Amino acid sequence: MASAFTHAFTAIAGGKIFTGEKMPTRFWILSILCSVLPDFDAIGFRFGIAYESFWGHRGFTHSLLFALIVALLVVLTFFRSEAAESGRWWKLVLFFFLATSSHALLDMLTNGGHGVALFAPFDNSRIFFPWRPVKVSPIGIGSFFTERGVRVIVSEMLYVWLPLVVVVAIVGVSRKAAKGRKG
Ligand SMILES: [Zn+2]
Repeated sequence: MASAFTHAFTAIAGGKIFTGEKMPTRFWILSILCSVLPDFDAIGFRFGIAYESFWGHRGFTHSLLFALIVALLVVLTFFRSEAAESGRWWKLVLFFFLATSSHALLDMLTNGGHGVALFAPFDNSRIFFPWRPVKVSPIGIGSFFTERGVRVIVSEMLYVWLPLVVVVAIVGVSRKAAKGRKG
């Protein structure tokens, strides 16, 4: 995985890019949860589930179909006041789909471990992006505060945090400008 901090940061930045509206706290908490949820599959290691199997790490929970199921469940459970299938409702589904699948896409930029079963269960091959600048993060917090951990953080800041901050800033400025023109 990329580190959990980076998955969470991506979700928050994604939310800021996605909407200029003031969103309820649960929107932000749920986006963070969605962005780290796929890695709960790492529990499988304890139960002897093979890394490369369907339920193994970076398997089905890292697929687009899983992201879509999670997004629908999140919106149906936590945004009941939204009229089902209204424009806003679909927008929320789309956002939580992107927040969850951002996890797999980030993992596909990492330089270690197995690839991601992005198209499972239709195609269970494990894939990466051709360009993988992000150093893979050790699993578990304990191993994080080491020299390797520092190298991971530096690569994530450079290739994930920095570009996201730039995009959030550009979107923020253009939203303000648009408001200025209207008002
Ligand atoms: Zn992962």
